[in-house]
Amino acid sequence: MGGPVILVCDQIHDDGVKVLMEAGYIVDLRTAITASKLIEVVGGFDALVVRSRTKVTRCVLEAGKRLKVIGRAGVGLDNIDLVAAKRLEIIVVNSPEGPSNAVAELVMGLMFSLARRIPEADASMKKGEWIKGRLTGIELKGKTLGIIGFGRIGNQIAKKARALELSVLVYDVSFEKVMQSIDEAGAEAVTLDELLRSSDFITVHVPLLPQTKYMIGADEISTMKDGVYLINAARGGVINEEALKEALLTGKLAGVALDVYEEEPPRDQSLIGLSNVVSLPHIGAATVEAQRTNSIIVAENLIKILGQD
Ligand code: NAD
Repeated sequence: MGGPVILVCDQIHDDGVKVLMEAGYIVDLRTAITASKLIEVVGGFDALVVRSRTKVTRCVLEAGKRLKVIGRAGVGLDNIDLVAAKRLEIIVVNSPEGPSNAVAELVMGLMFSLARRIPEADASMKKGEWIKGRLTGIELKGKTLGIIGFGRIGNQIAKKARALELSVLVYDVSFEKVMQSIDEAGAEAVTLDELLRSSDFITVHVPLLPQTKYMIGADEISTMKDGVYLINAARGGVINEEALKEALLTGKLAGVALDVYEEEPPRDQSLIGLSNVVSLPHIGAATVEAQRTNSIIVAENLIKILGQD
């Protein structure tokens, strides 16, 4: 008795819970816990595990007198008051590497969707149409893919694209950090300008920061070849949605695929309603495998931190 007790506030993959239990921790699963109940009970726990549903506010953290660590199974930490956690010396861990393959596979799916107009073809069949003559696409083989941001996800996309016989150009602000993995993936490091001018498909994989906000806007799009396909499965706001709309309407861009939006869910349907836009409800990380990896990584991190006592 008296060992660390962990409260799991959101649904996470069972395998992460198993890792915690096998390490001897007492795990309390309350995956529908309300905000007020959490504040009431949090004082009895040494660690919390959350996904995005539970808001770990200043009040929760202050009420968690025994709290040593918060584990977020997944990437974004927007639901955790990081300033309060730091002040209270509560460690926050997440699992940014968990969904990399899931996002990379989704991006490949989006490239095929754009190139072969799969969503449009499917929608026409469901309407009872047979518009075979209007659905000629292009092949990926032999095309050039530009990847902006060569971290965990960009790297995996490059390898998959090379296997499909695309040439891959890469731009990253920290070239010295990623140069070796660019070479290993069989990709080529170029300037942003060269990437924009030479690619048939462009996909962004940078974090949303003041420096990356609208890093693709009207000026960058005007630099691109006519008929380029653009993909954003990183964060809304990296590409300017107004500029996208304009370029789709003029035909400068052949198509756009989006998993993320400046506002989620997007209230303005004028961009996603366009026929050459493929849009998804932020499902990049939504695979069983990514959820499983996230839960295990977070469990292992929690054990490391709690075990330091
Ligand atoms: P990462 O940190 O591993 O890689 C990001 C790369 O971007 C780094 O190599 C960094 O040097 C580079 N970069 C940063 N600023 C740049 C700039 N101004 N210009 C060029 N390069 C720059 O991140 P990751 O795990 O590969 O994730 C990439 C993006 O995908 C993030 O925005 C993340 O939030 C997003 N993401 C989305 C989903 C989804 O569900 N769609 C899931 C996971 C991650």
